[in-house]
Amino acid sequence: MTKPIVNEDLCIGCGTCESLCPNVFKMENGKSHVVVEECGDCDCQETVDSCPVSAISLEA
Ligand code: SF4
Repeated sequence: MTKPIVNEDLCIGCGTCESLCPNVFKMENGKSHVVVEECGDCDCQETVDSCPVSAISLEA
């Protein structure tokens, strides 16, 4: 299982990750935060690939 991690220094708060995996990512104070240990619906790779600033990584 993989846990997504957001680099808040890179995140520009576009909201794409929250749109794609709303149970994992929540926008707060203009940044995305990971709120669960793992997605359950997918491996979040699409979300990782969709982040415009490559702020999301996956931890093994
Ligand atoms: S997709 Fe990337 S830049 Fe956009 S809110 Fe999520 S982590 Fe931040």
